Amino acid sequence: MGTRLIEQAFVCPICGRSFTAKVVESVTHQGQDSDFYPHYIGDNPLPHFLVQCKECFYCAYPDDFFTDHNSVPGLKMNQIQEILNQPIAKKIPQEGLRFFLAGKLYEIQKRNPYLIGNLYLRGSWCCRLAQDRRAEIELQQLSVKFLRESVERTTISNPDNVAIVTYLVGEIYRRLEDKNLAREWFKTVEENLVDPEQQQWLLELTRNQAELNEHFIN
Ligand SMILES: [Zn+2]
Repeated sequence: MGTRLIEQAFVCPICGRSFTAKVVESVTHQGQDSDFYPHYIGDNPLPHFLVQCKECFYCAYPDDFFTDHNSVPGLKMNQIQEILNQPIAKKIPQEGLRFFLAGKLYEIQKRNPYLIGNLYLRGSWCCRLAQDRRAEIELQQLSVKFLRESVERTTISNPDNVAIVTYLVGEIYRRLEDKNLAREWFKTVEENLVDPEQQQWLLELTRNQAELNEHFIN
């Protein structure tokens, strides 16, 4: 039970430096927030879902490191520093910043918006944990932009996930206090279901959050 980490060797695909980092082997959680932030049991694994090079600060998922040197498409070393020098980057707490950076690097590489939105969503969870609401909002705004795009451009490979991401877009808008967009997105969850019986839980969750959206202040 709890979070299990393992030490792994990496070679940075951008600058070539070798280093080791602890990555997540397994996690357990009990319950989750309404935007799917899991309530982890034991140590917080979020900082270990990403690996960061100690030399050039390149930051990505562990699998992204197992590509050849210079083969990360369209990515140059100075772009990493440019992102870290952006005014917004100075306002994000450390763990959230790693997800912000990884998301921006995915944007440069024109990766699937679903993956980009997920990176920013995880970054927003780090800010929530750090009780930094302003930074959380910044990352939620980025997250909803890309998750929304992934539904609109149908870039989500697993069809079961389309209704879930549709709900998530509504829920992030609700958390951003944009009642109209939240309402709009909650309404389309049902039509995106592929297996209504299996996803009954999602319909119930959507009804609850749509109700909150109409009657409560966040
Ligand atoms: Zn590096």
